[in-house]
Amino acid sequence: MINFFKVKVCIILIAILLYTLTIYPLEETSAKESTKTIGNYEIINPYKSVNWDVYGQYKANFHSHTTESDGKNSPKEMIENYYLKGYDILAITDHDFVSTTWDRKDRKPDHYLTTKRLNEVNVGFGRNGRGMISVPLSNEQSMPIDHLNTFWCNFNNSYGATLESNIAQCEKLGGISHINHPIPNHTKRYIDLFLKYPSCVGIEILNWKHGNKNNFINNWDNILSNTMPHRPVWGFSNDDSHSLDEVGVNFNIMLMPKNTEKNIRFSMENGTFYAVTLYVKYGHKTTPHSKNSYPVIKNISVNDDMNTIIITAENYDTIEWISNNKVIESGHRINLNNYENEIGNYIRAQIKGPEGLSYTQPFGIIKKSNIVLGDINGDGVVSSTDYILLKKHLNGKDGYILKGEKLLAADFNNTGSVNSSDLTSLKRYLLRSK
Ligand SMILES: [Zn+2]
Ligand SMILES: [Zn+2]
Repeated sequence: MINFFKVKVCIILIAILLYTLTIYPLEETSAKESTKTIGNYEIINPYKSVNWDVYGQYKANFHSHTTESDGKNSPKEMIENYYLKGYDILAITDHDFVSTTWDRKDRKPDHYLTTKRLNEVNVGFGRNGRGMISVPLSNEQSMPIDHLNTFWCNFNNSYGATLESNIAQCEKLGGISHINHPIPNHTKRYIDLFLKYPSCVGIEILNWKHGNKNNFINNWDNILSNTMPHRPVWGFSNDDSHSLDEVGVNFNIMLMPKNTEKNIRFSMENGTFYAVTLYVKYGHKTTPHSKNSYPVIKNISVNDDMNTIIITAENYDTIEWISNNKVIESGHRINLNNYENEIGNYIRAQIKGPEGLSYTQPFGIIKKSNIVLGDINGDGVVSSTDYILLKKHLNGKDGYILKGEKLLAADFNNTGSVNSSDLTSLKRYLLRSK
């Protein structure tokens, strides 16, 4: 019996020795790499306040025209068409005309809803209680060449107005605005205005009437490169519809606990929405409103400790991550540490599907410091003390938990989480560097 036991122990010891001898030479490269310095970031998440499990996703168009300006259809026809196509929120924004209520009586007969019908639309009659509401006091201020949509402010620009005077006037009256179909090469002007006026919450990145031009998106990236991380500029997607056949291509999905005027404004101001178009340039032109199987974002989770952002979505093929006008990664997850040189002061994602494209709002990126992999306690050397800290964390000893930079320094294998393989890597590194 005793001899058998001795033999068994011997075999095990030999096996361990062989394993050790074979594995260490292979580890030389990774041990050297593992001493590299990595960045730590603070990620400003515009969706931080969103409870994805509970909140509703409400479809909104913030730019449409009627016979009150150069549109072909009456307000009544446009409102009914948006209601028919499943919208939850609509802003009628005629040129240089303040849209007040949808049941007004002081205009041409039969051009607006009756009060009875307005109530039905508001409470979701025929739509299982899913009502559609208006963004009040909306206007496309169009006296200057740069058009501006204003909301919640009862004013109309007059001859001689400028983009800046319109933004300023709306802000003075307590409203908010967004810049429409931006003019190429005017980026510098827009940046200055965004930095000066907090009430100008964003800019159209998609405008169907103007053909969803690529330079709208480029313009947005150029602005973000200059204003982020502290001044986010939200991207809006609108039909700019002038007739019924232009209804339902571009829209915004507002993430809100309930569809109320107050919540809509909060979403517009804080970027708790994403922009969508059903028009896909790389595929076929989707028949608007027929399917609505655009990429739906189900969850976005940001891990500040691990520098990762993960998107869960439906109806999509790929997710691209953009920083400084460049696609730097494809996939549902990004680890900022893999793109030290490519990442600027923001990152955003676009989700491409066969039936549409969805755009997240930009995440602000603040580079906090550099840390050395393995130097968990931050004393400047990778030592056995670090090994003990990592071991304590993994064993949950004395409730010892690594957080923030400490946790990042422990992620030896850069997988986005810390586990026993990081401990093994750290052990190997310590043995090699002796
Ligand atoms: Zn316009
Ligand atoms: Zn317009």
